[in-house]
Amino acid sequence: SLFLRRQALPLGIGELKSEEFNILQERMLLTVNDTTNPGVGIAAPQVGVSRRMIAVQRFDLPDEPFGIYINPVITHYSDSLVLGGEGCLSIPDVEGMVRRSLEITLRYSDPEDYLSETGDSLKVKTETIRGFTAVIFQHEVDHLNGILFTDKMVGPLPETEK
Ligand code: ZN
Repeated sequence: SLFLRRQALPLGIGELKSEEFNILQERMLLTVNDTTNPGVGIAAPQVGVSRRMIAVQRFDLPDEPFGIYINPVITHYSDSLVLGGEGCLSIPDVEGMVRRSLEITLRYSDPEDYLSETGDSLKVKTETIRGFTAVIFQHEVDHLNGILFTDKMVGPLPETEK
């Protein structure tokens, strides 16, 4: 769809404090946790909202929670790559192999910070993430830039991974 090809717009602090933001966050988490078609990450454009917000399951943290990331930017992609199988909630029935960086540096704002914050500027955090979780971040941040995993697919899933 052309909608998924858009450059999503950043979110401002006013929006993060709005009811619409809570509804969007809830809709994304419900969609990605849908037991009939669960995912490990989702971007706002996938629920019809062209804004820079993603939810990613943190397999690298205890209890593997979903985190919400506002205006995420990958500021560094490692040269060392991993080849792995991917699919997408927005592209049913397609899976394939994609090469991604093994490690990334992510810059983002954390919605939890705002709720307590009285200022009107966004606090920005930086984090280095490795492994499968880093792959999910790369897939989801691509969605905010109108890029789909099928653009980067280097081949079909091997029979053993289906
Ligand atoms: Zn996707």
